[in-house]
Parts: sequence; C-alpha cells; structure tokens
Amino acid sequence: MQAHADKPVVTAYIGLGSNLAEPVVQIRNACAALKRLPESVLRQCSSLYLSPPLGPADQPDYINAVAALDTTLAPHDLLAELQRIERAQGRTRGVRWGARTLDLDLLVYGDRIISDEALSVPHPGLPERAFVLYPLQEIAPELELPGLGPLAILVANCPKDGLKRYA
Ligand code: ATP
Ligand code: MG
Ligand code: MG
Repeated sequence: MQAHADKPVVTAYIGLGSNLAEPVVQIRNACAALKRLPESVLRQCSSLYLSPPLGPADQPDYINAVAALDTTLAPHDLLAELQRIERAQGRTRGVRWGARTLDLDLLVYGDRIISDEALSVPHPGLPERAFVLYPLQEIAPELELPGLGPLAILVANCPKDGLKRYA
C-alpha cells in the first residue's frame, strides 16, 4: 500500500473476541469489516481459538483471533474505526469483561507506545492473555513488542489457561 510523506504505513495487530450471537460468524464478519477499512490492507487473520472467559465466569466461552493490518490511519482513528465495527455488530457495554458480540482491541501499533485516557498500546492485558499471545504468535512469531520484548518470551511465560484451537 501507498505511504504518504506525513503518513507512514504501520503494521497494527488487532485482537478479536466474541461470546454471543454466533461467535464464529461474528469473528468472520469482523474480519470482513477489517478488510473494508479505509487506508488499510488486511494482511492476515489467525486461526480461531476457543478460550474460557476472563472476569465473570457465568458466560459462554470466547472465540478469539488476531489480525494483522497495514494502515496509514493514525492510532486513535484506527481505534474509532474498530469501535464503529463493534457497534455495527451489536456491541453494548455493560459489566466489565461481561459477555459481548464483539470486542476489537488494538494490541500493537507498530513500534509506538501510547498511554492516554482513550488508548493504551501495546494493550496492557497482552502479557498475561493466552488468547491474545498464542494467536499473535501464529501470525507474527518474530514480533518484538515495544517496551515488552520478544513475543516468543511472553508466550513462553504465559500458560495456555485452557486455550484451544477451534476445530
Ligand atoms: P480490556 O481492554 O481489558 O480487554 P474490554 O476490551 O472489555 O477490556 P472495552 O469495553 O472494549 O474493554 O473498552 C473500554 C475502553 O478501553 C474503550 O473505551 C477504549 O477507549 C479503551 N482502550 C484503551 N486502550 C485500548 C486498546 N488498545 N484497544 C481498545 N480499546 C482500548
Ligand atoms: Mg478486550
Ligand atoms: Mg475492548
């Protein structure tokens, strides 16, 4: 894709999760929506994974995946696009970490480290979340995470916590 003088192409990684209203379909639809994002090319989507819920346990298991996107969207603009896709797929915000049709988290945005009231990248949950680290390793095994080091080391230090490949 085309870089502009003031807009470099950045590779971003996005974590996808769903545990409501046909999660597999939700994740497939979200990948299709990522393909249509402006100023962006969807490079890869991981396999689907099945994971036990984080937080409240009285909710269904999650389907998770990670996608790689080349983009010239600025990080907060990309976050706004992700939130637009969440809303389009019926996301409502209730209990923290409660069941949801779609969660799209910006995991990594190139080599940037950002921490403000709207956006933290790398995503703060990344080091302890098997459902993010293992699918990320599938599509970017050599990745270095800004401020966190090699992905391979994070994976080695994170038990699978019941994460399974979704057949
Ligand atoms: P968690 O972020 O722990 O996975 P969650 O995904 O359930 O929890 P949300 O309700 O989706 O949380 O998002 C809450 C807020 O998190 C959003 O309003 C957004 O501004 C903020 N946020 C901060 N950093 C990020 C990020 N890297 N990706 C997505 N949202 C982020
Ligand atoms: Mg999340
Ligand atoms: Mg989220």
